[in-house]
Amino acid sequence: MVLDPFVPRVATAQDTRQQNLTAALQIVFRGSAPSRADIARLTGLTRPTVSSLVAELIEDGLVVELGTGTSAGGKPPTILGIVPGARSIVTLDLSRQPLRGAVADLTGALTHHATHAGGPALGAAAVDQLLDLVDELVVLAPSPVIGVAIATPGLVDTDGTVLEASNLGWHGLALADRVGEATGLPVFVANDADAAAFACIATAPDEDGRDVVALRIGQGVGAGVVLDGVLRHGAASAAGELGHVVVDVEGAACACGNAGCLETVASVPAILRAARGRSATPEAALARATADAGEALARALAPVVGLLDVERIVLDCELEQGGADLAAALGTELRRRLLPAVARRIRIDVAGQDDELVLTGVAAIALRASMGVMWR
Ligand SMILES: [Zn+2]
Repeated sequence: MVLDPFVPRVATAQDTRQQNLTAALQIVFRGSAPSRADIARLTGLTRPTVSSLVAELIEDGLVVELGTGTSAGGKPPTILGIVPGARSIVTLDLSRQPLRGAVADLTGALTHHATHAGGPALGAAAVDQLLDLVDELVVLAPSPVIGVAIATPGLVDTDGTVLEASNLGWHGLALADRVGEATGLPVFVANDADAAAFACIATAPDEDGRDVVALRIGQGVGAGVVLDGVLRHGAASAAGELGHVVVDVEGAACACGNAGCLETVASVPAILRAARGRSATPEAALARATADAGEALARALAPVVGLLDVERIVLDCELEQGGADLAAALGTELRRRLLPAVARRIRIDVAGQDDELVLTGVAAIALRASMGVMWR
């Protein structure tokens, strides 16, 4: 008999125990210094069950007793916390050359950074560089590595196969399998813009909600979409491919075969090219080209925001001035194109220039996939 995938699988006693452990661990991960009584109250589990779960988490080295909290009448509670360095995640960002990576601890802090010394590489040579970097970071990791988290440009399916990443010369590359065979570690692969979007949710305060569109403006234009805390992959792993939405049917030819894609006007090379073609001072020409790119982004993004009612857009831009002008132009034009009530609420944040958004985001994706937890 083949089980219908839409019929929930029954839980074994072991499944239930594992699920309860994850629930208890998630409460500790949220960082509000809970006690065993808090976990019992929040989960509805009995005190003895919670004590047994917490004992197992302490035994595994993941959780520690931090001391005593304030008494609500009776014996003061013992508060619990995560041991940040108990496990490590090796995290890599392949969206820029040279390839770079870091070791993340359980709180997402990036503790050891490394950059590949080789020049730009394609195809098998890029895989070799990636494997070198993984080896280097595994050695640097101060605690057991629970997984290798890789953010790559291009289309990635949910099995970790890179369907298409022309910047790296990868087509149909089973990257998770390849790195898994070489390292013996679990491997998690995500698109770089998806990683950036997930970072925006995983590290944000609660009041920021759980919906975001992250736009990455670099050699191309990519987007990652998280709705209600869930990364959207789409039917063919191409959700967020906003860069190839045509914004000008009369526009320049694009590498994808169409003409006038958003990428041909709003990527960093396109903005710099447009600025060079203007007869003005370099500063004025760049400002005008950036404003035009922001308007084009808004034309492509307004229907997305109108459809989904996403309140927060994060712009991660490789332009030297950090994308503030691009964000301003995008915001002005976007608000003009939306229902006033939606336009008033929309917020456009510019990501920091520290390169860490993607590394942190893909580590968060790996943490969620391997341990079932998030930082909020
Ligand atoms: Zn295109």
